[in-house]
This record gives sequence, C-alpha cells and structure tokens, in this order.
Amino acid sequence: MTGTTLDDYTDRYARRVRGMTASEIRALFAVASRPEVVSLAGGAPFVGALPLDAVGEMIGRLVSDHGPTTLQYGIGQGTPELREGICEVMALSGVDAGCGASPDDVVVTVGGQQALDLVARLFLDPGDVVFAEGPTYVGALGVFQAAQAQVRHVSMDDDGLVPAALEEAIAAAARAGQRVKFLYTIPTYQNPTGVTLSEARREQVLDICERAGLLIVEDDPYGQLGFETEAPRPLRARRRDGILYLSTFSKTFAPGLRVGWILAPHAVRDKLVIASEAQILCPSAFAQAAVSTYLRTMPWQEQLKTYREVYQERRDALLEALLELMPPEMTWTRPGGGLFVWATLPAGIDAKAMMPRAIAAKVAYVPGVGFYADGSGAGNLRLNFSFPTPERIREGVRRLGGVIEQDLAT
Ligand code: PMP
Repeated sequence: MTGTTLDDYTDRYARRVRGMTASEIRALFAVASRPEVVSLAGGAPFVGALPLDAVGEMIGRLVSDHGPTTLQYGIGQGTPELREGICEVMALSGVDAGCGASPDDVVVTVGGQQALDLVARLFLDPGDVVFAEGPTYVGALGVFQAAQAQVRHVSMDDDGLVPAALEEAIAAAARAGQRVKFLYTIPTYQNPTGVTLSEARREQVLDICERAGLLIVEDDPYGQLGFETEAPRPLRARRRDGILYLSTFSKTFAPGLRVGWILAPHAVRDKLVIASEAQILCPSAFAQAAVSTYLRTMPWQEQLKTYREVYQERRDALLEALLELMPPEMTWTRPGGGLFVWATLPAGIDAKAMMPRAIAAKVAYVPGVGFYADGSGAGNLRLNFSFPTPERIREGVRRLGGVIEQDLAT
C-alpha cells in the first residue's frame, strides 16, 4: 500500500459517508480557542462553577472504595443505581412516576449525542424524512445526515415551533406520499436559538403529532437551566406514549463524563439496549459511578442553582451589550434559560463570509448556516454566553459590533 493517498479510499467508503461533512463548529474550535480571541462560539458549560476539589475527592474515592465494579464492564442498559438517580433528576422537571417514568425504561448513553445516534439507528432508513425545528442542533443534523435521512425544517418564532407550520409540513409529506419517521424537537431553551415552546403550543404540538401518528424525539439538555421562571413541563411530562425523551448530565453537571440517557417507551427499550450494546457494549462504569455518587452524596440541586445564577448574569451581560453596541437593524432572541442567543444580522450581511473579519478582530461566533440542513441561516449567528465571563462577553460584542459596522459601511 505504498503511496496510498486519501483519494484512494473514496470508492471504498460506505454510501452514508458521502453525507458526512465537518461541522461548522468543529472547524472553528481551533481558531476560537486562541486566548486572544473572545469566543462566543462553542457551547461549553462553565465547569469552573463546580466545587472542583470536592468533585475530585469524590471521584478519587470511586476507585479506592469501589474499584472492582467501577473499573469493570457493566450492563448495556446502564447501572440500576444511576437509572434511579436519573429518574430523580427527571422528576424535578415533572417527568415522574405519575407519567410512567421508571428506571426500567431508562437507557444510559454516552452523552446526549449517543442517544441521538441510537434513535437514528433504530428508526431511520436512507431517504427517510425527519422533521426538526429550523434552525436545530448541529450535532443532530450530523447524525441524521449520516443516517442518510432527509431533514425538513419546521419554522419557529419567539414561542417556538409554529403549530400551523407543523401541520402544513405533515400535510405536504402526506401529499408527496412520504412517511415521516419522527419530529425531533428541543422545546426548552433550544440550541441554537434559546427559544422555548410556549405552554399553549406544547399541547397543540402534542395533539397534532398524536393525530398524525408522528413519533416525537424530545431532546431536553437545557430544561433545568431556566433563569427567572421555571420552564414549562417537558412534552414527556404531559404524554406517556409516542415520545422518546433524551437528556444528559453535560450541562447540569459535567460534559467530560459523557453521561446522558433516553427515557423510552417500554416497547422500544430493549431494541435501544441491543443497538447500544452493538455500538459500545456498555456505558463507562466509572463515569456512571461518578454521576450516581455525585447525585447521592453532593448537593446537585444547589449546583443547578449555581449554574443558573452564573448563566443568568452572563445572559444579561450579553443582552445588555448587544443593546448598547449593535446597530439598530440587528435583532436577537431573549432566552429565558440555556446557553445561547440567536442573532439576525442587518440585511445583506452573510455571517459566514464575515467570519474571517471577525477572527481578525479577535471575536468568534457560529454562523447560522450550520444549524440548517437546507442552506438557510446565512444572515444568522449563534452566540454562547455560558463560557466567557461577563467582561469578555462585553468585549466580544464590542469587537463584533465594530466588524458589523464596517460591513455595513462597505
Ligand atoms: N442535544 C442538544 C440539543 C445539545 O445541545 C447537545 C450538546 N451541545 C447534545 C444533544 C449532546 O449532548 P452531550 O454533550 O451530552 O453529548
């Protein structure tokens, strides 16, 4: 195999690999992580808000006290102890025993990302249609595209997914003779917009999906990160059937542990476990023990409060800076929780084309096109407020405002 080049592999790849392209965000990371650049890109939680010494001590003891289990293989579904802990966490959002949530139907995953991949493995054949908000989570698009599915975006406004648009999309698919496999939705403090599906619309969306027999994949990593007010209850707290509920400890505890989960309809649970075993044998026993011990021995609800307070202060810093420093033609969302603001540039400015000028001015963001499967979003950008300090946020917005003013003047 001397002289083998990348091109020699092209005709060996599986067909699904053709749809795999580098995400806009990953490509930005290298540049955005330079210390002189204020990064409003990325989506990292501020793990510095954790009591790191106490967490470190707790994790250290996992091996000395429980080495024979924490360093061993485990079962594919995840440890019973963690699945019980997950049910306590979900109960805080109203997804509790009263609506049929049970440790038996929880499947532990390697972060929310593996949860998405498992859902795609179970339900998507090449060519299948999936509905998702427009815009939606870039990592979900990557999974659906790798499964060779077609993503149809359903439009959103400040109250989230527009029910009439969902009905229209269902009708259009029916006219085209296409079966839609599921609606993928992030109803609360959505990534990338920060928008939350309103109380009234939650019922409407559930009714529409029920009538159409449309499965819902509800992705809820941010629901417990609300600021002034509690988030409306998840869709899964309102209906038992037809919903796969996904979440993760990445934003409420620590993404480095890579622990997430799916609460599945009972009938689907076994298939998920079989698919997960084929993929990873079992989730990390060590990471699961770290999370369940954290839930059992540390004040995790207090930590949630701390995350909320830190992020609320940073969101306020971002919104205030935008108001003060952005040209009047620019608009943006006002998230009630989560990690992101979604901004719309003055007409005629392309966020991706502006990126090199932004980097030269030492500020980074994520251009909006990456959050759509259909090339929309040229005039949008996503701004993260969880990781940079309020001072850095302000400085970043000042730099960004300068770049936009310059673009407007030319
Ligand atoms: N879903 C959404 C909506 C997300 O924003 C993320 C993380 N950015 C994930 C899933 C993946 O979560 P994890 O980091 O736990 O894999």
